[in-house]
Amino acid sequence: MKKNDVVLGGGILAIALVLFLVMHLTRNEAGNQIQITVDGVVYGTYSLEKNQVIEVKEDDFYNRIRIQDGSAYMEEANCPDGYCEEQGKINGRTQTIVCLPHKLVVEVLDVNGLEDDNAVEDMPDTISK
Ligand SMILES: [Zn+2]
Repeated sequence: MKKNDVVLGGGILAIALVLFLVMHLTRNEAGNQIQITVDGVVYGTYSLEKNQVIEVKEDDFYNRIRIQDGSAYMEEANCPDGYCEEQGKINGRTQTIVCLPHKLVVEVLDVNGLEDDNAVEDMPDTISK
């Protein structure tokens, strides 16, 4: 009997450990994402976990956003002021890169903190009209 109890206890521990690892890995896999918005319209959502280049071309404007090592930055843009290229790398929640001339916004979405973001969005919008 005693031996069985030990085995059972060990089994539960092992299951708990596996569950913990699975949850942990799933969380990491979801990770942070960036969302690119052009003129208020969502252009796309991209994982910060994957190194990639996103090219945004609209009419005669061009922005190239690069994701590397978990950070995103404006690698190249043909806007007149070039501020967006100077805004550096973003990798954390609520960080943004804004290209005003192109009405383009790159923002970090924290998948694990979406509930908080929704709470903010539910607040009355006093800015629009
Ligand atoms: Zn710009």
